Amino acid sequence: ETRLAQREAGCCKMGATQSVQAVEHEQTKDLTKVLFTEEEIKTCVNQMGKRISEDYAGKNPLVVGVLTGGYVFMSDLARTITVPHVVDFVKCSSYGSGTESSGKVKFQLETSHSIEGRHVIVVEDIIDTGLTLSNLVAHLSTMGPASIEVASLLDKKARRKVEVKAKYVGLECPDEFVIGYGLDYDGAYRSLPMIGILKPEVYS
Ligand code: 5GP
Repeated sequence: ETRLAQREAGCCKMGATQSVQAVEHEQTKDLTKVLFTEEEIKTCVNQMGKRISEDYAGKNPLVVGVLTGGYVFMSDLARTITVPHVVDFVKCSSYGSGTESSGKVKFQLETSHSIEGRHVIVVEDIIDTGLTLSNLVAHLSTMGPASIEVASLLDKKARRKVEVKAKYVGLECPDEFVIGYGLDYDGAYRSLPMIGILKPEVYS
């Protein structure tokens, strides 16, 4: 009885007749433009998950999300991968609090699973200069994986400094600083369900 009372007092009342509505995010006012809507992202993520599921049947891949920006994409993508797989994370950072990469990639957290002999899929939010992924892939490759591939939601080709071979790429990103769906500006905007261009006056 107590549990039922607690549940009814909570925000997720079971059996409520309320329909699920799109959440309005206050921070969308800081966008000059929405580049990719929640629906467009969802379609893209589902297609990628389907391809990965077909390619990795029977391989039990180790799916490694790159923190912090990749956490939203990783969470959605992993739930569309229908074959058995193991989820892990690494933490890399190359950005300070601005909009330009520092160029130096720091590994702050390693995977907790052994890479040796595993089919590894690295999941990243965006490939910009390519420095993060090229460093990370080189680093993981020294640990003896059976194979290693990259899945990135966004690709900002115009700014590439080093080549990155990404087998799974979702959406082409223009040469703009984008936020939302895990991507931040100084820690903010990660929870926006869409991806958009931040108004320059927010960071200038
Ligand atoms: P790269 O090492 O390829 O230059 O950059 C990769 C990382 O930089 C991404 O994981 C992401 O965290 C960050 N990044 C690159 N472009 C953008 C952008 O337009 N917006 C945001 N918020 N982060 C970006």
